[in-house]
Amino acid sequence: MNEEQKLTRVAELLASSRNTVVVTGAGISTEAGIPDFRGEKGIYRTLGEHKVTALLNINAFRKRPREFYEFYRRYFLLPQVKPSRAHLLLADLEKKGIIKAVVTQNIDNLHQMAGSQRVIPVHGRADRFLCTGIGCRFESDAGYVRDYPDPVPKCPECGSILRPDVVLFGEPIQNHRLARDTILAAQVLLVIGSSLTVYPLAGFVSEYCTGDRTMIIINKGPTALDYAATLKLDVESTAEVLERIARNLP
Ligand SMILES: [Zn+2]
Repeated sequence: MNEEQKLTRVAELLASSRNTVVVTGAGISTEAGIPDFRGEKGIYRTLGEHKVTALLNINAFRKRPREFYEFYRRYFLLPQVKPSRAHLLLADLEKKGIIKAVVTQNIDNLHQMAGSQRVIPVHGRADRFLCTGIGCRFESDAGYVRDYPDPVPKCPECGSILRPDVVLFGEPIQNHRLARDTILAAQVLLVIGSSLTVYPLAGFVSEYCTGDRTMIIINKGPTALDYAATLKLDVESTAEVLERIARNLP
Protein backbone atom coordinates (compact mmCIF):
# COMPACT_ATOMS: atom_id res chain seq x y z
CA MET A 1 0.00 0.00 0.00
CA ASN A 2 1.45 3.39 -0.92
CA GLU A 3 0.97 6.44 1.26
CA GLU A 4 -1.98 7.81 -0.69
CA GLN A 5 -3.79 4.47 -0.43
CA LYS A 6 -3.05 4.35 3.29
CA LEU A 7 -4.53 7.82 3.80
CA THR A 8 -7.66 6.84 1.89
CA ARG A 9 -7.96 3.70 4.00
CA VAL A 10 -7.52 5.67 7.25
CA ALA A 11 -10.29 8.04 6.17
CA GLU A 12 -12.56 5.06 5.41
CA LEU A 13 -11.85 3.51 8.80
CA LEU A 14 -12.56 6.78 10.60
CA ALA A 15 -15.72 7.43 8.61
CA SER A 16 -17.18 4.02 9.42
CA SER A 17 -16.18 4.00 13.09
CA ARG A 18 -18.76 4.88 15.73
CA ASN A 19 -16.17 5.40 18.44
CA THR A 20 -12.73 6.64 17.49
CA VAL A 21 -10.43 7.47 20.37
CA VAL A 22 -7.18 9.37 19.88
CA VAL A 23 -4.07 8.83 22.00
CA THR A 24 -1.48 11.59 21.77
CA GLY A 25 2.10 11.91 22.92
CA ALA A 26 4.91 14.45 22.72
CA GLY A 27 5.14 14.22 18.92
CA ILE A 28 2.02 16.31 18.40
CA SER A 29 3.30 19.09 20.67
CA THR A 30 6.77 19.41 19.19
CA GLU A 31 4.90 20.92 16.22
CA ALA A 32 3.71 23.63 18.62
CA GLY A 33 7.29 24.29 19.76
CA ILE A 34 7.33 22.24 22.95
CA PRO A 35 10.46 20.14 23.43
CA ASP A 36 10.09 16.37 23.57
CA PHE A 37 11.73 15.52 26.89
CA ARG A 38 12.35 11.99 25.70
CA GLY A 39 13.45 13.06 22.21
CA GLU A 40 16.93 13.34 20.76
CA LYS A 41 17.75 16.66 22.42
CA GLY A 42 15.44 16.14 25.37
CA ILE A 43 16.61 16.12 28.96
CA TYR A 44 16.19 12.36 29.27
CA ARG A 45 19.10 12.11 26.84
CA THR A 46 21.14 15.15 27.83
CA LEU A 47 20.90 14.73 31.61
CA GLY A 48 20.22 11.02 31.71
CA GLU A 49 17.01 9.28 32.63
CA HIS A 50 18.28 8.42 36.10
CA LYS A 51 18.88 12.05 37.00
CA VAL A 52 15.53 13.18 35.65
CA THR A 53 13.60 10.50 37.52
CA ALA A 54 15.50 11.33 40.71
CA LEU A 55 14.81 15.07 40.46
CA LEU A 56 11.30 15.00 39.07
CA ASN A 57 10.18 12.81 41.90
CA ILE A 58 7.51 13.19 44.55
CA ASN A 59 10.02 12.40 47.31
CA ALA A 60 12.50 14.93 45.95
CA PHE A 61 9.70 17.49 45.90
CA ARG A 62 8.80 16.78 49.52
CA LYS A 63 12.33 16.60 50.88
CA ARG A 64 14.18 19.14 48.76
CA PRO A 65 11.60 21.52 47.28
CA ARG A 66 14.20 24.16 46.44
CA GLU A 67 16.30 21.77 44.38
CA PHE A 68 13.12 20.41 42.81
CA TYR A 69 11.92 23.85 41.79
CA GLU A 70 15.28 24.99 40.48
CA PHE A 71 15.17 22.02 38.14
CA TYR A 72 11.48 22.29 37.40
CA ARG A 73 11.64 25.98 36.56
CA ARG A 74 14.48 25.41 34.16
CA TYR A 75 12.87 22.68 32.09
CA PHE A 76 9.17 22.45 32.81
CA LEU A 77 7.82 25.95 33.21
CA LEU A 78 6.71 25.77 29.63
CA PRO A 79 6.85 28.83 27.43
CA GLN A 80 3.53 30.28 26.33
CA VAL A 81 2.67 28.36 23.22
CA LYS A 82 -0.33 28.05 20.98
CA PRO A 83 -1.89 24.81 19.77
CA SER A 84 -0.39 23.45 16.57
CA ARG A 85 -2.40 22.92 13.40
CA ALA A 86 -2.63 19.24 14.36
CA HIS A 87 -4.30 20.13 17.69
CA LEU A 88 -6.79 22.36 15.88
CA LEU A 89 -7.56 19.67 13.31
CA LEU A 90 -8.28 17.14 16.07
CA ALA A 91 -10.64 19.60 17.77
CA ASP A 92 -12.37 20.08 14.43
CA LEU A 93 -12.69 16.31 13.90
CA GLU A 94 -14.34 16.05 17.31
CA LYS A 95 -16.83 18.78 16.38
CA LYS A 96 -17.68 16.84 13.24
CA GLY A 97 -18.27 13.70 15.32
CA ILE A 98 -15.38 11.80 13.76
CA ILE A 99 -13.48 11.38 17.02
CA LYS A 100 -14.97 10.96 20.47
CA ALA A 101 -12.13 11.54 22.93
CA VAL A 102 -8.46 12.37 23.25
CA VAL A 103 -6.35 10.58 25.84
CA THR A 104 -3.08 12.47 26.16
CA GLN A 105 0.27 11.99 27.83
CA ASN A 106 1.08 15.65 27.28
CA ILE A 107 1.00 18.19 30.09
CA ASP A 108 0.77 21.27 27.88
CA ASN A 109 -3.03 21.64 27.82
CA LEU A 110 -2.92 22.32 24.09
CA HIS A 111 -5.81 20.03 23.17
CA GLN A 112 -8.07 21.95 25.54
CA MET A 113 -6.77 25.27 24.21
CA ALA A 114 -7.47 24.08 20.67
CA GLY A 115 -11.10 23.47 21.60
CA SER A 116 -11.22 19.71 22.14
CA GLN A 117 -14.02 19.01 24.62
CA ARG A 118 -13.36 15.48 25.78
CA VAL A 119 -9.71 15.41 26.79
CA ILE A 120 -8.36 12.91 29.29
CA PRO A 121 -4.88 13.95 30.44
CA VAL A 122 -3.03 11.21 32.30
CA HIS A 123 0.07 13.14 33.32
CA GLY A 124 -1.65 16.30 34.54
CA ARG A 125 -1.21 19.84 33.28
CA ALA A 126 1.80 22.07 33.67
CA ASP A 127 -0.14 25.32 33.53
CA ARG A 128 -1.74 24.68 36.92
CA PHE A 129 -0.27 24.67 40.43
CA LEU A 130 -2.04 23.40 43.51
CA CYS A 131 -1.58 24.24 47.17
CA THR A 132 -0.23 21.35 49.23
CA GLY A 133 -1.78 22.73 52.43
CA ILE A 134 -4.31 20.36 53.94
CA GLY A 135 -7.82 21.57 53.22
CA CYS A 136 -6.60 24.53 51.15
CA ARG A 137 -7.99 24.64 47.63
CA PHE A 138 -5.91 27.46 46.24
CA GLU A 139 -4.65 26.97 42.72
CA SER A 140 -2.66 29.22 40.44
CA ASP A 141 -1.56 29.44 36.86
CA ALA A 142 2.05 29.20 35.71
CA GLY A 143 2.33 33.00 35.56
CA TYR A 144 2.00 33.26 39.34
CA VAL A 145 4.83 30.77 39.79
CA ARG A 146 6.97 32.37 37.10
CA ASP A 147 6.66 35.78 38.79
CA TYR A 148 7.04 34.51 42.35
CA PRO A 149 10.04 36.20 44.03
CA ASP A 150 11.45 32.91 45.36
CA PRO A 151 12.18 29.67 43.46
CA VAL A 152 9.73 27.83 45.73
CA PRO A 153 6.24 29.30 45.22
CA LYS A 154 3.98 29.56 48.25
CA CYS A 155 0.25 29.80 48.65
CA PRO A 156 -0.92 33.39 49.28
CA GLU A 157 -3.73 32.07 51.48
CA CYS A 158 -2.05 29.59 53.82
CA GLY A 159 1.69 29.84 53.09
CA SER A 160 2.13 26.19 52.08
CA ILE A 161 4.25 25.20 49.10
CA LEU A 162 2.54 24.97 45.73
CA ARG A 163 3.05 21.93 43.56
CA PRO A 164 2.68 21.56 39.82
CA ASP A 165 -0.45 19.64 38.85
CA VAL A 166 1.65 17.14 36.94
CA VAL A 167 2.30 13.51 37.73
CA LEU A 168 5.75 13.13 39.26
CA PHE A 169 7.79 9.96 39.36
CA GLY A 170 6.61 7.88 42.27
CA GLU A 171 3.00 8.96 41.75
CA PRO A 172 0.16 7.16 39.97
CA ILE A 173 -1.11 8.64 36.71
CA GLN A 174 -4.29 10.71 36.71
CA ASN A 175 -7.55 9.41 35.25
CA HIS A 176 -6.16 5.88 35.25
CA ARG A 177 -9.48 4.09 35.05
CA LEU A 178 -11.17 6.55 32.70
CA ALA A 179 -8.22 6.47 30.30
CA ARG A 180 -8.11 2.69 30.24
CA ASP A 181 -11.88 2.28 29.86
CA THR A 182 -11.99 4.89 27.09
CA ILE A 183 -9.18 3.22 25.16
CA LEU A 184 -10.57 -0.29 25.56
CA ALA A 185 -14.04 0.83 24.43
CA ALA A 186 -12.74 2.34 21.19
CA GLN A 187 -13.74 0.92 17.85
CA VAL A 188 -10.79 2.59 16.18
CA LEU A 189 -7.74 3.75 18.11
CA LEU A 190 -5.71 6.53 16.51
CA VAL A 191 -2.28 6.97 18.09
CA ILE A 192 -0.50 10.23 17.24
CA GLY A 193 3.04 11.25 18.14
CA SER A 194 3.77 8.64 20.76
CA SER A 195 6.42 5.94 20.70
CA LEU A 196 4.15 3.94 23.04
CA THR A 197 6.88 3.22 25.55
CA VAL A 198 5.58 5.15 28.57
CA TYR A 199 3.56 3.05 30.98
CA PRO A 200 0.87 2.51 32.06
CA LEU A 201 -0.69 4.21 29.02
CA ALA A 202 1.29 2.08 26.58
CA GLY A 203 -0.07 -0.91 28.50
CA PHE A 204 -3.66 0.20 27.88
CA VAL A 205 -2.93 0.45 24.16
CA SER A 206 -1.25 -2.93 24.22
CA GLU A 207 -4.26 -4.37 26.02
CA TYR A 208 -6.57 -2.83 23.40
CA CYS A 209 -4.55 -4.55 20.68
CA THR A 210 -5.11 -8.04 22.02
CA GLY A 211 -7.76 -9.40 19.74
CA ASP A 212 -8.56 -8.15 16.30
CA ARG A 213 -8.76 -4.41 16.85
CA THR A 214 -8.25 -1.47 14.55
CA MET A 215 -5.31 0.74 15.46
CA ILE A 216 -3.81 3.47 13.31
CA ILE A 217 -0.44 4.92 14.28
CA ILE A 218 0.79 8.28 13.01
CA ASN A 219 4.30 8.88 14.28
CA LYS A 220 7.72 10.02 13.23
CA GLY A 221 9.84 6.91 13.65
CA PRO A 222 9.07 3.48 15.06
CA THR A 223 6.84 2.76 18.05
CA ALA A 224 6.80 -0.19 20.42
CA LEU A 225 3.50 -1.41 18.96
CA ASP A 226 4.03 -0.98 15.21
CA TYR A 227 3.60 -4.73 14.79
CA ALA A 228 0.06 -4.52 16.17
CA ALA A 229 -1.03 -1.58 14.02
CA THR A 230 -3.61 -2.01 11.27
CA LEU A 231 -1.96 0.92 9.51
CA LYS A 232 1.19 2.83 10.33
CA LEU A 233 2.05 6.22 8.87
CA ASP A 234 5.62 7.33 9.43
CA VAL A 235 5.44 11.08 8.95
CA GLU A 236 7.40 14.29 9.39
CA SER A 237 4.34 16.47 9.94
CA THR A 238 1.30 15.24 11.84
CA ALA A 239 -0.66 18.31 10.79
CA GLU A 240 -0.09 17.67 7.11
CA VAL A 241 -1.17 14.05 7.31
CA LEU A 242 -4.27 14.89 9.38
CA GLU A 243 -5.22 17.52 6.85
CA ARG A 244 -4.95 15.01 4.03
CA ILE A 245 -7.01 12.48 5.99
CA ALA A 246 -9.65 15.13 6.75
CA ARG A 247 -9.87 15.94 3.03
CA ASN A 248 -10.55 12.27 2.29
CA LEU A 249 -13.44 12.10 4.75
CA PRO A 250 -16.94 12.13 3.30
ZN1 LIG B 1 -2.95 27.17 50.58
